[in-house]
Amino acid sequence: MNRLPCRSWAEISLQQIAANFRAVRAAIGPKVEPACVVKADAYGHGAIEVSRVLETEGARWLAVSSVDEGVTLREAGRKGRILVMADCFPFNYPALLVHDLTPVVHSLEDLRALNHFASGHVGRISYHLKIDTGMGRLGTRADAARIAAAICAAPSLEVEGMMTHFASAADYTSPQTERQIDVFTRLCGELKKLGVAPRYLHASSTNPVAYGRREAWYNMVRPGHALYGYVSPIRGIGPDRILDVQPALTWKAGVLAIKQVPAGGTVGYGAIFRAPRPTRIAILAVGYADGLSHRLSARGSVIACGRLVPILGAVSMDLTTIDVTDCPELRAGDAVTLLGTEGEVSINAQQMARMAGTISYDVLCGIRTRVKRVYV
Ligand SMILES: *Cc1c(COP(=O)(O)O)cnc(C)c1O
Repeated sequence: MNRLPCRSWAEISLQQIAANFRAVRAAIGPKVEPACVVKADAYGHGAIEVSRVLETEGARWLAVSSVDEGVTLREAGRKGRILVMADCFPFNYPALLVHDLTPVVHSLEDLRALNHFASGHVGRISYHLKIDTGMGRLGTRADAARIAAAICAAPSLEVEGMMTHFASAADYTSPQTERQIDVFTRLCGELKKLGVAPRYLHASSTNPVAYGRREAWYNMVRPGHALYGYVSPIRGIGPDRILDVQPALTWKAGVLAIKQVPAGGTVGYGAIFRAPRPTRIAILAVGYADGLSHRLSARGSVIACGRLVPILGAVSMDLTTIDVTDCPELRAGDAVTLLGTEGEVSINAQQMARMAGTISYDVLCGIRTRVKRVYV
């Protein structure tokens, strides 16, 4: 029947990524610069392909987590600015210079160490300094006076940005985001009085953009999830979304075999499914080694022949079994949809995450490399 491109594959719509990027740009307006987050292989969508499209669409800044991710983009020909958000190990300092990557510096000690490295080379290294305003993860908690002194004491570096990160941006039952905004705004104001006025101030990832928290945008934002078509739902009562984005990734798997299990027969490891009636099952060429969470065992669903059907028994490493009693037309060699839409029915990464007890980010980043990426 269908000719399958492989056992399990992800179709990624680069047009949808471009449309999502344009939606972000329309929401933030021309005065706010988007730094497009393509870390973790663009949340499983393929950083090289995604960043190429974003650059074509006019993105001037990309953001990644590690120096290695930045080097991969440079080697793929990306010419724009690349912010490295979570990697300041001294062994990577030379690569920052060689590949023209812009590091985020997380502490005043790192600032001194990077300055020491840079002082032995020609040209200054631009960096963005991260402030811990309450996330309690990376970033300095020093006061303005100490920060200004440390910046002055690092003449071989150029402070181009000041940034922070929110812990609870979609939680409208918590005052934490407002507090973090206050701390950041006040600190940047004090630094300005001390003569430290970097070109960019930034704090917002997808959620503060999507829910229009403009006081948190400053003049740069760092959307990731939105580019891939997702915005987290809010907790509590909050504003309407100002951003319309759609998922760009569809995940499919081929049907290896179809068979009939008699009433009372069991399916898979641990025999955790026992057929209450004669059951037609399909064995899919996908398992937890492809990133289909083992926690979907006996609770997840997939789309077969345009219908939502349950996963039976345990998800195994390379195989997953579903109930297709109500899909008599499904045959070996057909494909089913793990993430995506067939007709009226759809499953997105947030729904799969809920079934698996995790978050959509984990679902997307969890799709392994052996799932072939097909760009459409
Ligand atoms: C991952 C990340 C982002 C992007 O977050 P999304 O919720 O995916 O938009 C922004 N900033 C930092 C520091 C990050 O680590």
